[in-house]
Amino acid sequence: MSQITPALWSEILGHLRDQHDGLAQGWFSQLDPPVLERGELTVSTPDAQQYHYLLERCSRAFAEAGQLAVNRLVSVRFRLAEPAEQANGQTAAPISDETPPLNKLYTFEHFVTGPCNRMAHAAAVAVAEAPGQAYNPLFLHGNVGLGKTHLLQAACQRALEAGKVEHVLYLSCESFTNDFINAVQRGALDSFRYRYRHVDLLVIDDIQFLAERERSQEEFFHTFNTLYQMQKQIILSADGPPTAIPSLEERLVSRFGWGLVALMEKPCFETRMAILRQKAELRGLELDDEVVYFIASRIDSNIRELEGAINKVESLARLAGGAITLALARQGLGEQPPAREIAIPEIQEAVMRRYNVRLADLQSRKRSKSISLPRQVCMYLARQLTRHSLEEIGGFFGGRDHTTVLHATKTIGQQRQSDVKLHATLEEISGELRNLRLN
Ligand code: ADP
Ligand code: MG
Repeated sequence: MSQITPALWSEILGHLRDQHDGLAQGWFSQLDPPVLERGELTVSTPDAQQYHYLLERCSRAFAEAGQLAVNRLVSVRFRLAEPAEQANGQTAAPISDETPPLNKLYTFEHFVTGPCNRMAHAAAVAVAEAPGQAYNPLFLHGNVGLGKTHLLQAACQRALEAGKVEHVLYLSCESFTNDFINAVQRGALDSFRYRYRHVDLLVIDDIQFLAERERSQEEFFHTFNTLYQMQKQIILSADGPPTAIPSLEERLVSRFGWGLVALMEKPCFETRMAILRQKAELRGLELDDEVVYFIASRIDSNIRELEGAINKVESLARLAGGAITLALARQGLGEQPPAREIAIPEIQEAVMRRYNVRLADLQSRKRSKSISLPRQVCMYLARQLTRHSLEEIGGFFGGRDHTTVLHATKTIGQQRQSDVKLHATLEEISGELRNLRLN
């Protein structure tokens, strides 16, 4: 864990002031410099109101400002620090009785489904529409950035809209434990219990943080039992299945498995593209197919990073005052423009050697696989490695039009996702060509 330097922090604050004037607050500068770890910027505050403000309104602004300052993609997490962590020794305000507002964008309508998350999505819908009846509890798990929080909040919003529930409590596990610790300290356990045991729907995000906290576990166990017996719905999320949460009491592990445990996986290529398209649309951004392909093929870890990539590319486009081009997307994702352009004939040469075809074949209209594959590979590499437009590239292949080139780029881009051999071949040829350029 490393806290960022004060200089970097003030740079971030500067970007926030410049670009998010309406959002930036005086107290931002009193926050401790955030921690930057594995591309995640964690901003902490011991103040519940500040925390809710950050959580509700500032994710994107901090991500953008962070990205500009550290010059690579970062995601942002806000956390409510425990009172004891406060450097100045003041006590933090008790957690307000208000549940943090739900993010209006985290709805089922805004959730793109694919093989990676279909089951989790269906289960969340089922539970929102028949709380306490479909699966209880519903336990969603998966790595960070794959949509757990989004689905949890969507379920809350749907259940409320549909009038299936009246009292909903959505909160992070940290808020639950903080709230509990505060209640113990203030001798207010009764009101704590009242608050948690008189809800129709209790949703706790990132329940794995309960692991190290014995007393909170004990308390949660009783909360769970009470709600469960009254057939009130419980939804939980974690970064792993119940059995994989270290030092979670056995009785909780087994209870978490009583309903449905659904895994959320990394999105496949098609889902990543659909998500990019949807995010672009929501923001009124024009993203060309080829930009979508490019980003989706470069970023396959999680959805938060996909969003980070769009943010980055969007802010670059704004600074440049123009459209989001492929070149800009490359830059946004940290690819250096080549020192000397690779020429299309060089690509053709390399591909001809590799696939043992002739230039006349590449330029012909022959459709046999042995010719069309190297031709498409050529077009794809030309798109990846040069700045030529689709039309120009088509010109090198017997005057093909831009739709043919675009189709080739898409086909190969997609195929390399599942075809390991093709992927390796493409890497080798590009490596060869890049070396050529350096000599
Ligand atoms: P997690 O809680 O699993 O770490 P989040 O729910 O915070 O992940 O998701 C990270 C970001 O990605 C959020 O902004 C969310 O809206 C977005 N996201 C995740 N899954 C999807 C999806 N299937 N469709 C659209 N957006 C998604
Ligand atoms: Mg989450």
